[in-house]
Amino acid sequence: MNIIEAGKYIFDKGLVVGTSGNISYRFDKNNVLITTTGACLGNLTEKDLVVVNLKGKVVKGSRNASSEMQMHLEIYKAYHNVKVVIHTHSPYASAFAYLARPLKTVNPESEMLLGKVAVSPYHPHGSVELAKDVCKTIKGQSAVLMEKHGVIVVSKNVARAVELAELVEETAKINYLVEMLAGKGR
Ligand SMILES: [Zn+2]
Repeated sequence: MNIIEAGKYIFDKGLVVGTSGNISYRFDKNNVLITTTGACLGNLTEKDLVVVNLKGKVVKGSRNASSEMQMHLEIYKAYHNVKVVIHTHSPYASAFAYLARPLKTVNPESEMLLGKVAVSPYHPHGSVELAKDVCKTIKGQSAVLMEKHGVIVVSKNVARAVELAELVEETAKINYLVEMLAGKGR
């Protein structure tokens, strides 16, 4: 699976809409392929991807990298084993993120693949503080919720990152249903 296929998959699954969300892939030590600002993940073409170095300079491509690029780069700089970062606004997970409520594991997959999904505190969009806190919170985790915003998942490969993005949303949905049912029973 490549970035273009990943974008289409997560768009078709409703994990992003319109031009929200972004995907990046570190293909060598210092260079990252990343979606551009304003790109729709549902129908990416090569023009919607640029190469940036870890300092955030575009080294290939003519468009601007995603405005959320800093978050991606901060993670790559800190964690050498991470090769893929996906950011979505998937609705159930974003609702938990909005309320700054971490997700509980709900089944073997969420336990094994996701584990703890903590919340990174709110900072303005695109800020250095946001990038640094997301990076700190994701230490030892596959996914974090960004308060009042959305989801970040990290992996060594694109297919697994896509799976994680989908699994975070499913886990959030089950968390929601469990809370609703448990609340009613009392
Ligand atoms: Zn976002």
